[in-house]
Amino acid sequence: MSMQDSFKVKYSGDIATLEMDLQGEKVNKLSTAVMGRFKDVIEEVSKSRAKVFIIKSLKPKIFVAGADIEEIKNLKTKEAVEAAVKGGQDIFNMLEDMPQVTIASINGACAGGGCEMILACDYRIASEDPSTRIGLPETQLGIIPGFGGCVRLPRTIGIQAALDIILAGKLLNGKKAKKAGLVDKLVHQGILEEETLKWANQIIKDGSGKRRKQFQPQGLVAKILEGGLGRGVVFSKAKGATLKATRGHYPAPIAALQVVKETYGMSDRQKALDIERKYFGEMALTDVSKNLIHVFYLTEMVKKQTGLPAGSSVKAKDVKAVGVLGAGTMGGGIAYIGADKGIHMRVKDINHDALNKAYKHASDIWAKLVKKRVIDKFQAKQKMDLVSGGLDYSGFKTLDVVIEAIVEDMNIKRKVIAETAGQMRSDAIIVTNTSSLSVTEMGQAHPKPENFAGMHFFNPVDKMPLVEVIRGPQSSDETIATIFELSKKMGKMPVVVKDGPGFLVNRLLIPYLNEATFLFQEGMDIKTLDDYYVKHFGMPMGPLALMDEVGLDVGIKVVKIFNKAFGARIQVPDVMEKISKSGRLGKKNGKGFYKYSPEGKRLEPDETMYADMGLSAPTSPIPEKECIERGIFAMVNECASALYEDRIVETPDEVDLAMIMGTGFPPFRGGLCRYADSVGSQNIANALEQYSMQRSAPRLKPMSALNAMAKENKKFYTK
Ligand code: NAD
Repeated sequence: MSMQDSFKVKYSGDIATLEMDLQGEKVNKLSTAVMGRFKDVIEEVSKSRAKVFIIKSLKPKIFVAGADIEEIKNLKTKEAVEAAVKGGQDIFNMLEDMPQVTIASINGACAGGGCEMILACDYRIASEDPSTRIGLPETQLGIIPGFGGCVRLPRTIGIQAALDIILAGKLLNGKKAKKAGLVDKLVHQGILEEETLKWANQIIKDGSGKRRKQFQPQGLVAKILEGGLGRGVVFSKAKGATLKATRGHYPAPIAALQVVKETYGMSDRQKALDIERKYFGEMALTDVSKNLIHVFYLTEMVKKQTGLPAGSSVKAKDVKAVGVLGAGTMGGGIAYIGADKGIHMRVKDINHDALNKAYKHASDIWAKLVKKRVIDKFQAKQKMDLVSGGLDYSGFKTLDVVIEAIVEDMNIKRKVIAETAGQMRSDAIIVTNTSSLSVTEMGQAHPKPENFAGMHFFNPVDKMPLVEVIRGPQSSDETIATIFELSKKMGKMPVVVKDGPGFLVNRLLIPYLNEATFLFQEGMDIKTLDDYYVKHFGMPMGPLALMDEVGLDVGIKVVKIFNKAFGARIQVPDVMEKISKSGRLGKKNGKGFYKYSPEGKRLEPDETMYADMGLSAPTSPIPEKECIERGIFAMVNECASALYEDRIVETPDEVDLAMIMGTGFPPFRGGLCRYADSVGSQNIANALEQYSMQRSAPRLKPMSALNAMAKENKKFYTK
């Protein structure tokens, strides 16, 4: 298929229209070849008699999704980056300089390079359709807008609004884009084409010419902030907030800020773009950018997967109505996310109060979204209407899937599963949300174990993107494909894992949390230890704070289960026994490693913890490097065993995705396996060997899977 078919120009009277429809691709993206064709189009139209040039997309929900990320990923040298970016900048300059008045008519995603394209147009009209999302997400990939976005966006909508978009890598819906001044007109999708043409004809009739939109601040405060003196305040505030949010681990937002600072108000366009290009070049070659692009690909990978090996012809069943057993912390969250995505959710509990709490949990979140204007009141009501509940099984015959989220007790779960199966259609599926029990053993209670699997959500359900789809030995392909698809429908990232203690995420996380408890026991100060992991390594929360969050009682129970399952490599620290007898449950009773406000907000570390555990005042005798390595390398050690010995998942890709989406493992490190590869398996095994001897800690000894890797210094990612 030629590029001519992808970017077609049609002439009608004084109007030339470019119709973008990249052949053979779901989305329009700006590869080098596409940009080449775009350049030819600009040259052709510039020479024509047309007075107005309209740019639109024929893809239903995409205007232009952005640059071709595969090409960015493959940029390896400064020279290659320079050439690619200069080419793009020049083409958008040509667009800006066309003799025709240019109008971008936007429906659907208009991100990155797409947004930079419309910024080089004279006017912008967009549809109100929810698919319309306009912005510059580049910093999320560790790069900065490089086709003029850092220069043209602030000029168009002002520094404050532009920094808000660029630094966080945000996309705005139509309404917000209109409010920010990023688009001039907003219309219903059904009349976008008609309104665009009407506007074009009006421009021709009026003879109103080209323009380079210049933001005009309204009101005194805005004038001061956008003006010379106030601008300094805006930049330093934005820098402070960015450094705080990124803890210095993400250089791209700071580089983008610097570009805006150096170029805002510059009359020499080329000079401004040269500055943007210089910073882009620096960012594109960072490890952080390569890692973030890796994470982007992992999320794309899930979109294409079915939960079954490639080539399988088994299809997922359509799921319209889902039941939830147990309206507690997890059940309530699951009911919310399902209904939010348009699925009928029927909740059953044995307790009225729990049901009421679950309704309230869901309605409170929707009320917040109404307040933030993400949805309107009508939409909130429609979603709420999808949640119903009761104390009996009424309605269960209509359900396609039931998610069990009751107490963590094998006997009760087995009894309830058998009972529930009797109340459902014979083709319906039941899944368990258990975090520590055997899915295999539980499935035997189902009269048709092929219709049973695990569907492990993470807490809080509305925030954590991961779902582990646990494949029991008898789960059918259709069951797995259906649950995998259902997870995606619920807005989650599923990863198929084999049954086994802790499945994947908890299996890797427990050695890490356990090691933190040992470090505490060895004299580490609570805050110092947590800060090492958060501020220096980039974890979203320190391990001791996380244990409080999970519940110290739950943590201890699970460590003991692991000790039984895995023996010496999961030793139970003495303080754990003491914690379990001390009545400290963590956040849920406001007593843990930290203190809590009555509303449950984490406050400062609880200094009474040391004496209560029979420890003297902490001296933090263990160096930061050792603290971090013992925790993180313990995860790597377990990972090699889970991946290569027990085959809990098939690929390091799945480990990395699961750890980022399920635990918040720092995305800028690209995931646990990618991080391990950057250190080297030999270095990791040597360090673990040394710590295990030095600290008399056999649990830290490298296991055979890691040793096998270390022998040849093998990486997890071999390609
Ligand atoms: P919870 O105690 O908050 O809620 C359990 C609910 O189940 C209660 O409302 C209870 O009344 C109800 N229930 C008990 N027996 C029932 C029955 N026979 N029929 C219907 N309802 C019944 O518990 P939770 O934290 O939501 O955990 C539920 C499950 O999810 C457990 O298996 C747990 O291991 C798992 N899980 C929990 C978390 C977490 O962080 N809380 C995370 C992942 C998985």
